[in-house]
Amino acid sequence: MRKCVKCNKKAQVYLHAHRLSLCGEHYIEWFENRVERTIKEFRMFTKKNKILVAVSGGKDSLSLWHALTKLGYQADGFYINLGIGEYSQKSLQKAKSFAEKYHLTLHTLDLSTEIASIPELTSYDNRPACSVCGSVKRYYMNKFAREKGYTVLATGHNLDDESAVLFANTLSWNVEYLKRQYPVLPEDDGFVRKVKPLCKISEKESALYAVLSGIDYIEEECPFSEGATSIDHKIYLSQLEEKSPGTKLRFYSEFLRKMYPLLKESSKGNLQKCEVCGEPSNNSICNVCRLKLKLISQKEKI
Ligand code: SF4
Ligand code: ZN
Ligand code: ZN
Repeated sequence: MRKCVKCNKKAQVYLHAHRLSLCGEHYIEWFENRVERTIKEFRMFTKKNKILVAVSGGKDSLSLWHALTKLGYQADGFYINLGIGEYSQKSLQKAKSFAEKYHLTLHTLDLSTEIASIPELTSYDNRPACSVCGSVKRYYMNKFAREKGYTVLATGHNLDDESAVLFANTLSWNVEYLKRQYPVLPEDDGFVRKVKPLCKISEKESALYAVLSGIDYIEEECPFSEGATSIDHKIYLSQLEEKSPGTKLRFYSEFLRKMYPLLKESSKGNLQKCEVCGEPSNNSICNVCRLKLKLISQKEKI
């Protein structure tokens, strides 16, 4: 029987990547310490910052929000209703119940009233649903955070997400994306700072924290996630992880330590203001305004 390395009680958790056995109570402590260490390592924010946490109702974002408030950070939540049928209804409910239970502030924004739901938008756009959804979410999260006076936007991207994106960008040597793959994107003209405090925590570790902390999260995946290539990349990496625990963490951490500093040297972006809405954009018209123009022209045809 494995014993907790901290208190010698029966271990509830064994972390292969860290060769660590812990009881429930000490696992929660380990998780929160790891989040705190990551925040400090990358100088993400301090207790003086007003943080907006992007909340989806899933295990990662709710675990992040929970850990941040327990660590004493000023963190409010922001939920974007994507209008994806029952999945969106259920996830909104989870986010709302969590905020009520812990007496936290949750802001919500309804995409259908701002522009259109994700299913509607994807029917007018040739890009995969997740690509449309990602750019629309980034736009509204940044705009909302800036307008409401938040200086930092925190997302629940975990080690599995980050290593899968890194793997994909490395497979195609997408240097422009690799240059931006850092857990902190500093504030820039019109952009608030973006941070990923769970970047060194695996999906399993974040699910364990949620379960052991009694967090009620949505277990169903978004219907659009099915068939996404990122899922395949996660599967390949998990197979490697199984054979050699710690692979994902090594792959990601060593990229940040050895490769990122070289790429950063040449990282001046092409940031400008969108000619239509004035939000920061890489093109003369931002992605959201392009989508809005497409919607208008489609509706005129009908
Ligand atoms: Fe959006 Fe894709 Fe995530 Fe669904 S899986 S919420 S469509 S990014
Ligand atoms: Zn213990
Ligand atoms: Zn615009």
